Amino acid sequence: MTTRYDVLIIGGGVVGSAIARELSRFQLKIGVVDKELDVGFGTSCRNSGVIHSGIHYIPGSLRAILSVRGNILMDGVCQDLKIKLQRIGKLTLAVDDEDKVMLALLKHQGEINGVPGLELIDRAKIKQLQPGIHGLSALHSPSSAIISPYSLTIRLCENAVHNGVNIHLGQKVTTITPTADQLWQVETSSGKKYVTKLIINSAGLYSAEICRLVGINEYTVYPCRGEYYVLDKRLHGILGKLVYPAPKKNAPGLGIHATPTVNGKILIGPSAEYLHAPDDYASTSEMIKILRSKAQLFIPDIDETDYIRNFSGIRPKLVPSEIGGNKDFIIEDRKDVKGFINLIGIESPGLTSAPAIAEMVKEMVENHLTLIPDPTFDPVTIGSTLFFSELPAEEKADLISKNPNYGEIICRCEKITKQEILEAINNPLGARTLSSIKYRARATMGRCQGGFCIPRIVKILRDEFDFRPEDYLLHSKNSSLFKSYATESTKV
Ligand SMILES: Cc1cc2nc3c(=O)[nH]c(=O)nc-3n(C[C@H](O)[C@H](O)[C@H](O)COP(=O)(O)OP(=O)(O)OC[C@H]3O[C@@H](n4cnc5c(N)ncnc54)[C@H](O)[C@@H]3O)c2cc1C
Repeated sequence: MTTRYDVLIIGGGVVGSAIARELSRFQLKIGVVDKELDVGFGTSCRNSGVIHSGIHYIPGSLRAILSVRGNILMDGVCQDLKIKLQRIGKLTLAVDDEDKVMLALLKHQGEINGVPGLELIDRAKIKQLQPGIHGLSALHSPSSAIISPYSLTIRLCENAVHNGVNIHLGQKVTTITPTADQLWQVETSSGKKYVTKLIINSAGLYSAEICRLVGINEYTVYPCRGEYYVLDKRLHGILGKLVYPAPKKNAPGLGIHATPTVNGKILIGPSAEYLHAPDDYASTSEMIKILRSKAQLFIPDIDETDYIRNFSGIRPKLVPSEIGGNKDFIIEDRKDVKGFINLIGIESPGLTSAPAIAEMVKEMVENHLTLIPDPTFDPVTIGSTLFFSELPAEEKADLISKNPNYGEIICRCEKITKQEILEAINNPLGARTLSSIKYRARATMGRCQGGFCIPRIVKILRDEFDFRPEDYLLHSKNSSLFKSYATESTKV
């Protein structure tokens, strides 16, 4: 059966999800298709989670305009979607004279871009704002903030679905064909077919592949991996600010930095390493060594037991390693390929810019379709969004007396209750992988990395959702949690 849409968005990362939610304000039939079993499993769940101020981008570029606008919009978005946004501010440090020149340039550039409250500060002020950090001077950008990138992506998409958008997970787009009546037919690897008036290509690392499906051959995406270390909650509160080095000219990223997360951990990273494949999320022993030595610079009191895990994300860069640096985002309403809105090279600050990119894409959609506001649009997240562990004791007791599932701790490290796990499993997107539960409830994210809670989550899925051994997936179709070792001779 073929499903018909006005707009089909390819890619449910933070950008595709923000676009879906923005367009759901209007009377349109919208679909989002993603090759993974949940939204955000590409770059959007694998980054620093920093809402940038806009100091780093050339004035007039899309990265400058959309990051500054995205930073401003983020307060309203987070209020509606009930997500933590902490405006902790950022220190960009100078350790030599070359860095000092860079900071002056960033301040000037930031002011042209409209970044508020920028201040060059001396050693004494650095010490006052963030004890333990050393630098000759620093640029303080108070509008820099932190957010959970997976909460943002998931809630944007869940709110879009609440407002009528259809989500198709586990559907890799493989063919796009123009129809005789000037529509597009989009087909996926599992044979699903969609017919749509407009396509929005928001496929991140794979955007150039989607372009090639409609005959646009001019783009190449160069994957560039960034590895991180996650530090234990024991260090919570040690770092009150984001701490970045002064960026180096033509470097592929902003440099290895220290990022407090909204959940009380600290990230050290990301590195920058060009790859041949867009899906090599390895953590390498060489990089682990480098990250450890950097961590000691940011947090001198760090202990061996504070390193709890590694992960990596991959930047979809439009410049190869031999050129270096960055290119601007490409966001275009193709005139030569009618009905194809193309987003490519949305590397950092794509998370920050997502709500502003969505506004820009909405203007492009208006070139093709009449946008009639939908009076039933509801911008607010429905359902429970509480973190039980953060509630006052009386409120906890009250909840437990009404619902005993709040009285059973499933994830001991993060203090996540059975009720929170049940809500994560019952999500509106129907995503049921272990990673889907992790990104919604934060279970498995603590020190023991699932040693305590995974068996308990497995039991909940078996007892209350009738999971069979083959139903348990870590994140993708090929990531079964259980393997059968029965041989022919042992089978009965
Ligand atoms: C190491 C690192 C650190 C970063 N730090 C920050 C930061 O602190 N702040 C900030 O603002 N930005 C940051 N960024 C950038 C930010 O993460 C990205 O700009 C943003 O996540 C891009 O979102 P997206 O939706 O375009 O891409 P993605 O999240 O990659 O989404 C694309 C989606 O398309 C799907 N897809 C691909 N091909 C197909 C297909 N054929 N069919 C169907 N679906 C398909 C994928 O499964 C994926 O879900 C960082 C990036 C990296 C790598």
